[in-house]
Amino acid sequence: MTTPARPLPDRRSAAKLAARVAAGESSLGRARRVGRMLRALAAAYPDAHCELDFSTPLELAVATILSAQCTDKRVNEVTPALFARYPTALDYAKADRAELEELIRPTGFFRNKATSLIGLGAAVVERHDGVLPATLDELVKLPGIGRKTANVILGNAFGIPGITVDTHFGRLVRRWGWTDEQDPVKVEQAVGELVPKRDWTMVSHYVIFHGRRVCHARKPACGVCTLAADCPAFGTGPTDPEQAAALVKGPEAAHLLALAGLGAAATEGPGGEE
Ligand code: SF4
Repeated sequence: MTTPARPLPDRRSAAKLAARVAAGESSLGRARRVGRMLRALAAAYPDAHCELDFSTPLELAVATILSAQCTDKRVNEVTPALFARYPTALDYAKADRAELEELIRPTGFFRNKATSLIGLGAAVVERHDGVLPATLDELVKLPGIGRKTANVILGNAFGIPGITVDTHFGRLVRRWGWTDEQDPVKVEQAVGELVPKRDWTMVSHYVIFHGRRVCHARKPACGVCTLAADCPAFGTGPTDPEQAAALVKGPEAAHLLALAGLGAAATEGPGGEE
């Protein structure tokens, strides 16, 4: 059974929350608000997961490198043939550059990405006997792997909690008043203090899912948003439920609109990633 979301705030209570957050809410108040938002996100996205397809840590590392400036959907179209052609780190190390570039061309920036993949394969073979390491310190020393990618790999391939801060994650948590920090490492630390460590990987999925489906950069679907009662940015997008419903994207649209009290009739958004 679907648990209904909290009702939309009226204009006055939305303004009060925005003012309180802008003035610097108490740490207890923020922790409670974040807790309510996390529970709402968990109810909205019970199946939230890494949207890149993979079956090994190396495959996830490769897919994450390819996902730079590219949708996960496009990456998932490319990787089956890629993973079949290059099953091991040594295969990437020895790859014919032209052939590799051709396979990954649809993901964009294919020359730089090919350099990263060949370098990654060589480094994993030389430094780690062909096995991708499972620590942040070792991962970030590998070609093509920064802190964000390392946390994706740790959280999703090794089951080690990690917060994945990309530009979308930073934009959303600042919009929600979870932190004012701009620097990704500081954002990661601030959110890490607000969220229990066991939830770090899932919070990354929840935030990314909500950003892709509801809380869009330019026109968020505030009028059907499950976080509305706790969001200081409520009203950034349309607050009228019917208008907002048309902005919801992705396969969970019907479920999200049901949570907002709208029937299945208004559920067909354009779908896909932002
Ligand atoms: S959609 Fe609107 S109410 Fe929901 S989280 Fe985004 S800005 Fe806040």
